[in-house]
Amino acid sequence: MLKGKIAVITGAARGIGRAIALQLAEYGAKVVVNYRSNRTQVDELLQTIIDAGGEAIAIQADISKDEEAKALIDTTVEKCGRIDILVNNAGITKDNLLMRMSEADFIDVVNTNLKGTFLCMKYASSPMLRQRAGKIINISSVVGIYGNIGQANYAASKAGVIGLTKTVAKELASRGITVNAVAPGFIETDMTNKLSDKIKEACISQIPLKRFGTAKEVANTVCFLASDAASYITGQVIQVDGGMVI
Ligand code: NAP
Repeated sequence: MLKGKIAVITGAARGIGRAIALQLAEYGAKVVVNYRSNRTQVDELLQTIIDAGGEAIAIQADISKDEEAKALIDTTVEKCGRIDILVNNAGITKDNLLMRMSEADFIDVVNTNLKGTFLCMKYASSPMLRQRAGKIINISSVVGIYGNIGQANYAASKAGVIGLTKTVAKELASRGITVNAVAPGFIETDMTNKLSDKIKEACISQIPLKRFGTAKEVANTVCFLASDAASYITGQVIQVDGGMVI
């Protein structure tokens, strides 16, 4: 389905990004696994992809920094010749109630989740414009649509990602580039493992499908949007949330 395509996934050492990298590789894409800090996890992921007959390389970069986001895209083009798919997945949380949230925690979350997505899209759009083709998929969150107590910084960043997605979709559509967002609900990863059992139970009671989603279920949607099966879809936000916010 994605044979010969070059796909960059940010923050792909673990969690949802890892599942996306595995699945894009399974569908035939050569994956560029971006990571910030954990080389051991990345080496294990590269080996898993290669053992399964796929192709993968790793590039370290903190995507919240302009020069590192640029280097990630430039190095990809240098090593792989092009870039067909960009998945902006890297994200962090630093939760607190508004009154207790520090400026630093607000800025850190916005810099990674929103500015990082902006920077990677900005730099990847050049080669995509030259190719007159490309697929960009941004990982937002249902929290960016509906809000969530204790997550003012995160909700603002993920709502920003939706605004970015819709705007860039309009700007790049005439050049054959689609830009969409995926908004997961509660997905089993390190990010949600931090929640107490009490909060997890309260969350599950609000989900019609009565369970958290898996990273693979998010990856399924990303792979669809990255494929030609989604060629007439752009500027959309697809919720993968077990019906949590129907
Ligand atoms: P996770 O397990 O915490 O993994 C996040 C990944 O992002 C880590 O590999 C992390 O690298 C990387 N990262 C963070 N900041 C980075 C930076 N500045 N540059 C490069 N990489 C960076 O999170 P997850 O649950 O898989 O979440 C993935 C995405 O889905 C995030 O955007 C998140 O907001 C979104 N999401 C998750 C859920 C959920 O329920 N899990 C729900 C909705 C949306 P390090 O190892 O270096 O920290």
